[in-house]
Amino acid sequence: MKHIPQRMCIVCRQSKDKSELYKLKNEQNTVYIDETNFSAGRSCYICKNNLCIEKCAKTHTLDKVFRKKINEQSYQNLLEKING
Ligand SMILES: [Zn+2]
Repeated sequence: MKHIPQRMCIVCRQSKDKSELYKLKNEQNTVYIDETNFSAGRSCYICKNNLCIEKCAKTHTLDKVFRKKINEQSYQNLLEKING
């Protein structure tokens, strides 16, 4: 069996293939989706599905993960990403 690197979703805590997750980066009080897969620094992963992203926005999971107040716009951007 081929080994595929897996990452854990911050909401459901399931390990998944990287292609099924968004990589999130934190900068000051903003969190954005890192699509370059290049930058260093703190990052986390979240499932590319409504369930996890809506739960993340509702419970402000990112605040806990990055241990700071993440602005509301960051959550809105995530929601727009899956709904748009
Ligand atoms: Zn998840």
